[in-house]
Amino acid sequence: MSEILVLVEHVDGDVKKVTLELLTLARSLGTPAAVWAGPGYSDAAKARLAEYGAEKIYVAAADEIGDYVVAPKAEVLAHLVAERSPAAVFVAATGEGKEIAGRLAVKTDSGVISDAVGVGEGFVAEQSIFGGGVNVHSRVTKGTPIITVRPNSTAPVAAAAAGAEEKVEVALSDAARAARIVERVVQEKGARPELTEAAIVVSGGRGVGSGENFSIIEKLADTLGAAVGASRAATDAGWYPHQFQVGQTGKTVSPQLYIAAGISGAIQHRAGMQTSKTIVVINKDAEAPLFEIADFGVVGDLFQVVPQLTEEIEKRK
Ligand SMILES: Cc1cc2nc3c(=O)[nH]c(=O)nc-3n(C[C@H](O)[C@H](O)[C@H](O)COP(=O)(O)OP(=O)(O)OC[C@H]3O[C@@H](n4cnc5c(N)ncnc54)[C@H](O)[C@@H]3O)c2cc1C
Repeated sequence: MSEILVLVEHVDGDVKKVTLELLTLARSLGTPAAVWAGPGYSDAAKARLAEYGAEKIYVAAADEIGDYVVAPKAEVLAHLVAERSPAAVFVAATGEGKEIAGRLAVKTDSGVISDAVGVGEGFVAEQSIFGGGVNVHSRVTKGTPIITVRPNSTAPVAAAAAGAEEKVEVALSDAARAARIVERVVQEKGARPELTEAAIVVSGGRGVGSGENFSIIEKLADTLGAAVGASRAATDAGWYPHQFQVGQTGKTVSPQLYIAAGISGAIQHRAGMQTSKTIVVINKDAEAPLFEIADFGVVGDLFQVVPQLTEEIEKRK
């Protein structure tokens, strides 16, 4: 089967979960080949990639690749596309991934599809558009299909493969050195998973009533090992930081489970969570629009339902 290149997302040498998802997806359509660009490659990274199906691992580990903003990674991929003629290239639909994909498309004169929530036979990509109201299927008709795929679109499944390493050396162009990284500041991180990557998200809205009350949302989230999200009403009120806003003007999440408490379901909120696999809605108003897309709904006061739910889950742990 033809090779599908999967660009590895890594931080401090750790392979990010989205890469395991992309390897799983690639396996259903061809032979996955991971592409490591930048420093930090290790035996542990190799083992992880092979565990999730990378038959081959192209390693461009030059320190220099990590010194510059995105452009070198696009050059590494372009080099491999020219040399190996892969069937497709999959990149995570993160800020960095989307920029790399765009640059790669220009370099290889290929079409690019962004923000796919699935990819099927013939590299037909599924995208959820217009605030999640419409799903479209599209296919690249020129060059090598380059597809960015949203985190959490595929459940990662291990399937051991060879993980045969091949070193790649690319002479970076002057253009790739145009923007140098001068400092890296590690963001202080809580114990919770990153919102856009979390498998479970628990979100609170105006119904939560205050910043202090968000502690009940956090407790449920921590019981489930989930990330916390919020509606814009809650972030605009200053009850929860803006970086946790889910929706059209916030983050797009696509977890396995999305629990919304005290959120009515405005189209702008749905836009950021509609592709979640299972949606649970807790709202005291049976007519709240979010119930329309709920898999499970509880009509009730969140101040009773959420603590009870937390307690019940704790008991079963
Ligand atoms: C350009 C634009 C961009 C926007 N972007 C976003 C965005 O990115 N994200 C976003 O979320 N919104 C966004 N909005 C705002 C959006 O239109 C809604 O105003 C917002 O989502 C409402 O938030 P909410 O559901 O928390 O509040 P409300 O609509 O006020 O709903 C609160 C809900 O809580 C329920 N409730 C109240 N008390 C309880 C209780 N004790 N127990 C259970 N349920 C209770 C109520 O029944 C109600 O359904 C945007 C708007 C515009 C115009």
